[in-house]
Amino acid sequence: MTEAWRPDDEDERRGAIGPVKVRVPAKVNLHLGVGPLRRDGYHELNTVYHAISIYDELTARRGDTLALTMEGEGTGELALDDTNLVIRAAHALAGYAGVLPHARLHLRKQIPLAGGLAGGSADAAAALVACDALWGTGLSRDELAGIAADLGSDVPFLIYGGTALGTGRGEAISPVLARPTSWHWVVAIAEVGLSTPTAYRELDRLRDSGAAGAPLGSTDALLGALRQRDPRVLARTLGNDLQDAALAMRPALAATLKAGEAAGALTGIVSGSGPTCVFLAAGAADAERIAAELTAADVCREARVAHGPVAGARVG
Ligand code: ATP
Repeated sequence: MTEAWRPDDEDERRGAIGPVKVRVPAKVNLHLGVGPLRRDGYHELNTVYHAISIYDELTARRGDTLALTMEGEGTGELALDDTNLVIRAAHALAGYAGVLPHARLHLRKQIPLAGGLAGGSADAAAALVACDALWGTGLSRDELAGIAADLGSDVPFLIYGGTALGTGRGEAISPVLARPTSWHWVVAIAEVGLSTPTAYRELDRLRDSGAAGAPLGSTDALLGALRQRDPRVLARTLGNDLQDAALAMRPALAATLKAGEAAGALTGIVSGSGPTCVFLAAGAADAERIAAELTAADVCREARVAHGPVAGARVG
């Protein structure tokens, strides 16, 4: 049953479009191949993004200015001013569409800050989709993804969701057409986040000193594994070039990875620039058990189960 829409203030009684609620997922990188540093300061990436069922939610209401409030992960830590990606995204859309950037936005955050799960990028994608609906600007997903690319490398993927190949600095997206399979993940969230730029600098340092592992190379094996339904096959092909850097910056993550595998995960990797670790489970029940064991082992702040792929930023 759908809930009846009730205007919750004078603005909405007068206005045509009432609150717009957008749900946006976190991402993990099933393959994160980091190439050379480019002249513009970004690394060339060859990555496979995968959207998982840990969500932030952004509600947009009509207003006379642009304002952001929040609850959940990062409240009190995250600035709600013009530096916030939600506000930057709203300004970017308004500028593109030639409308006034007026909205009251409220963010319910479940994706941890600086976790390697692209929470900030997810919020930017949610703001684009929510404001597009609120303002009736009616842009296509591809147009929104074009605006998204200027806000951050991961933002276009979070407009689409699913599983997709990312090239360039990660902003050039092409969907991976795989069999409709749901993969089961356990997501181990750390007490304290890691900075993405610092992780890339650490990888450069490790590579310069010859201490980094061999780069991952092609995504072919992973893409082949995604076409099968066997998580054991997929487990053998997951990889992340940033993992050595994350482990060098946060050696305790080695114990988290070990604990997940000891609890029965098929494999575990660091997500993006970390410090979140993600584990592939053979099924939903296994994932629940592994999450409980990881929590009991005291190797992370919290372990959550998730499945993927899921859709990107969507109204509803
Ligand atoms: P990625 O995986 O894309 O590298 P991450 O998951 O490690 O990112 P985020 O939580 O996306 O990290 O945030 C990185 C930084 O972005 C934060 O420390 C914060 O300074 C800035 N930021 C701006 N807006 C937001 C937002 N809405 N949510 C989270 N971070 C934001």
